[in-house]
Amino acid sequence: MSTVDYTPADAPRRFRPEKPVAVLGGGPAGLTAGYLLAKEGRPVIVFEAEDQVGGIAKTEVRDGFRFDLGGHRFFTKSKEVDDLWHEVMKEEFLRRPRMSRIYWNGKFLDYPLNGTDVIKKLGPIELMRCMASYLWAAVKPKGREDNLEQWVSNRFGKRLYQHFFKTYSEKVWGTPCTEIRAEWAAQRIKGLSFFSAAKAAFMGNKGNKIKSLINEFHYPRFGPGQMWETMADEIIANGGEVRLNTPVTKLEVRDGRVIAIEAGGERIEPSQVISSLPLRATVGMSGAAATGAVQAAAQGLRYRDFLTISLVIDGEDLFPDNWIYIHEPGVRVGRIQNFRSWSPWMVPDQSKASIGMEYFCFKGDDLWESDDDDLVELAKREIEQLGLAKAEKVERGYVTRVPKAYPMYDADYGERVEVIKEWLAGLSNLQQVGRNGLHRYNNSDHSMLTAMRAVENITQGADHDLWAVNADSAYHEEHQEPEQPYKRVPSTVYEREPLHAAAETAEEAAA
Ligand SMILES: Cc1cc2nc3c(=O)[nH]c(=O)nc-3n(C[C@H](O)[C@H](O)[C@H](O)COP(=O)(O)OP(=O)(O)OC[C@H]3O[C@@H](n4cnc5c(N)ncnc54)[C@H](O)[C@@H]3O)c2cc1C
Repeated sequence: MSTVDYTPADAPRRFRPEKPVAVLGGGPAGLTAGYLLAKEGRPVIVFEAEDQVGGIAKTEVRDGFRFDLGGHRFFTKSKEVDDLWHEVMKEEFLRRPRMSRIYWNGKFLDYPLNGTDVIKKLGPIELMRCMASYLWAAVKPKGREDNLEQWVSNRFGKRLYQHFFKTYSEKVWGTPCTEIRAEWAAQRIKGLSFFSAAKAAFMGNKGNKIKSLINEFHYPRFGPGQMWETMADEIIANGGEVRLNTPVTKLEVRDGRVIAIEAGGERIEPSQVISSLPLRATVGMSGAAATGAVQAAAQGLRYRDFLTISLVIDGEDLFPDNWIYIHEPGVRVGRIQNFRSWSPWMVPDQSKASIGMEYFCFKGDDLWESDDDDLVELAKREIEQLGLAKAEKVERGYVTRVPKAYPMYDADYGERVEVIKEWLAGLSNLQQVGRNGLHRYNNSDHSMLTAMRAVENITQGADHDLWAVNADSAYHEEHQEPEQPYKRVPSTVYEREPLHAAAETAEEAAA
């Protein structure tokens, strides 16, 4: 394999003397790095394995219907990220009202919870049982708190845990809650206590003080893919490159540096590498440069996979929600998206509804391996079973499989990541960023923030520890939005000024 001159023939003169920064992966993290580097006039090439940018946060388009791989809300506590989103999307960044419910025990509960609705749906006897179970949890000795079941039961009581955490969490992770590390809950559902949730349920969530229960979010007019495609266009407009269908297959490491990468049949010598590839892939591609212990640590990292079945259904909006959490053991679907509620521009024909049925699975299990036609039939059966639409009204369906959707926090992951971190620390020009890049269960804002810090390490000689980047840190906890009236604009789109707030709940933890 020969080394190819990285410089595109028509690259601006100022780019020629420098070797490029190689950015591995064209998801939110990789594109953020590429965008910021290109904006500064640095030579940069983004390598993306697929034929489309956006990674897990992309928007698929089939027959004009647009859908996310799991609805992607844009919310952040980081002003830097929020500013970047607005810089990229400008007036295309819509402010959308949120509506979501929980399907539980054959009923739809408003979410965020509403006191009257909770009493009505739980019934007074079950409500008393939940209260008693909560009070018992509050006074009894806490005991060990190693796993999700213990963590949640200690804070909310066993009964609420069983109703509202157990089934859904086990669907998401495919493993009993007793095998999910408590750290996961601590990271994902922090800030939501029984009292704050109950107070919000009975007295409302004025001023969005409980960020978990936020009732609005931002969303690009044509789905999140619009954000990533615009960023890719900007990278190219600023003299950088985005190479699609170009999987990175090898990292050549010598003397503590990545001296070359192989991608799409080419060998490129980069000045620096910013990688958003899963840790397992980065280590694997480095071959013998990583010791057996590091390789074993990386190979042992686990992921939860995911597939979404999008149904086009005859008829106008079936339900007003953006999404519904399905806490129902009788069906396999975990969450249902309604893309028109996300943005009316996601649906090309307003006489149709476009629904995303989300199934959590492991690559190779029965769901993952099922024929697409069988999966569409399953989704049709389940949407009817839930009473949301008649199966006969479903006109067609599309299946998208998403490998490595969720980095898993199993019992060993922490030690494994430590081993890999130590090895990475010995490579002076390689920085790992993003979600699977750091094996951190985080949203796109955090993925982007790690990429921003990696770029500063290159362009400003900063010394950010990317493992310590926390999307919460830039946030002023007491920040409250002034009340502003909604301005209604055509096609049920609502717009207001930006809001920096976040949401993390048991259900949203599955984002
Ligand atoms: C169901 C679901 C719902 C979510 N909802 C939200 C939400 O509402 N809001 C939010 O902010 N976040 C949400 N997220 C999280 C968000 O999707 C991620 O944080 C974000 O996509 C991570 O960006 P990334 O660039 O780190 O990784 P990825 O999106 O995984 O991108 C990595 C890229 O690397 C590419 N790649 C992999 N291997 C190679 C290779 N060998 N060579 C070249 N390229 C390669 C991949 O094709 C991919 O494009 C959700 C995630 C899921 C699974």
